[in-house]
Amino acid sequence: MLQEGLCLSRGYYEKMDSPGGFDLHTHSTCSDGTATPREIAFLAHKIGLAGFSLSDHDTVAGWGEARAACKQLGLEFLPGIEITTVHAGVSQHLLAYGTREADARLYEELRRLVSRRAARTQKMRVLLQRDFNLGRLDDTPVGQSTGRPHLADALVRAGYFRDRTAAFAGPLKPGSPYYIPVQALETVHAIELVREAGGVSVLAHPVAYRMKRPTTVTELRQFARHGLVGVELEHPENREAWLPPLSEEAKRLGLIVTGASDFHGAGKENVLGECKTGFYSFNRIREMVENPS
Ligand code: AMP
Ligand code: FE
Ligand code: FE
Ligand code: ZN
Repeated sequence: MLQEGLCLSRGYYEKMDSPGGFDLHTHSTCSDGTATPREIAFLAHKIGLAGFSLSDHDTVAGWGEARAACKQLGLEFLPGIEITTVHAGVSQHLLAYGTREADARLYEELRRLVSRRAARTQKMRVLLQRDFNLGRLDDTPVGQSTGRPHLADALVRAGYFRDRTAAFAGPLKPGSPYYIPVQALETVHAIELVREAGGVSVLAHPVAYRMKRPTTVTELRQFARHGLVGVELEHPENREAWLPPLSEEAKRLGLIVTGASDFHGAGKENVLGECKTGFYSFNRIREMVENPS
């Protein structure tokens, strides 16, 4: 199972330089990516992926466009959401695949998350405006989920920083007087909601270097007991030194191991397809979900 995935540039597992594969974690302009869902589909096709998942932060607003583009291009599409969660004070992200669009409980929580995000972005903007002249606020399209990357873009547009990364290292970083955390869902609760909505949940970048601390083996076990199905071990931002214990535990628990780039267009250095999931794992996920495309 572990040899299934491939991470082409910053890989942890065996590199398999073959075409195809699935990039199961991408962001579009419906959240904090800079490419539209359709543009991501065209790029995925151009680089030879077999398919991808659009997994915007807390929103399904891009699914229709991505699905239509994939159909046109003959690509597989797996609908996804990256849910903003928290566990034991550590902020985490949970990937939810193939949830039924009509599930009331999950989608009500997502609507709440997106509106809390909007209020938080606005509050941080007001704090920033005291010291930075950010100009006019663009209207947010309906369903779009906002966050610090949008504030980073405003700071870059106004000439204060060179790029998003520089803004993130400055006034947007946790602990700064302009920073306000997002009120997230408990990870365990989110796992249960995803399961109820007929989806499969995969813990995103569990040992990302940006995290306050790595996800522990005990936590992984606890999440698996609540219905976690997979773990994203191949991700450009996972810290390699923290991977071995989680990887061993994932094997013991029979979790599906996924690989994905976390592509944000020009908003982040992550390159589409740099980490991928193989056909076998993709199919296992697809067979388990109630909304396969
Ligand atoms: P938020 O959820 O609003 O607090 O924003 C977090 C998001 O910002 C994450 O999903 C990342 O994709 C993005 N992000 C974090 N650090 C950076 C960075 N240095 N450059 C670009 N995007 C970043
Ligand atoms: Fe993001
Ligand atoms: Fe994330
Ligand atoms: Zn992401």
